[in-house]
Amino acid sequence: MHELTLAESVIDIVESNARQAGASRVSAVGLALGLLAQVDVDALLYCCELVAADGVAANAVFTVERRAGQAWCEDCRENRRLSALGAACPACGGYRLTVNAGEEMQVVNIAVA
Ligand SMILES: [Zn+2]
Repeated sequence: MHELTLAESVIDIVESNARQAGASRVSAVGLALGLLAQVDVDALLYCCELVAADGVAANAVFTVERRAGQAWCEDCRENRRLSALGAACPACGGYRLTVNAGEEMQVVNIAVA
């Protein structure tokens, strides 16, 4: 399960950050997830809670903020914002697009208690 693998890497990052900060508890974790990522947000949040259960981030509140994607349009010769995979270029309506952002996930905020 894809979301479980992502959750494991999130918790790895959270736990190593908490260790470096000398924190014994993490109260909140903010994630940023590109709109083009093929990830089920509810499943991701569930998996984060599951994986976090035995560590410093047990009971932490996980939140996900979605970020717009971006693709290079071969017809416009410009980067365009893309809100979904398979969508047409919002400027010219073309499909000759190469996604270059929006599939990534990042840990953007870790609140320690
Ligand atoms: Zn275009």
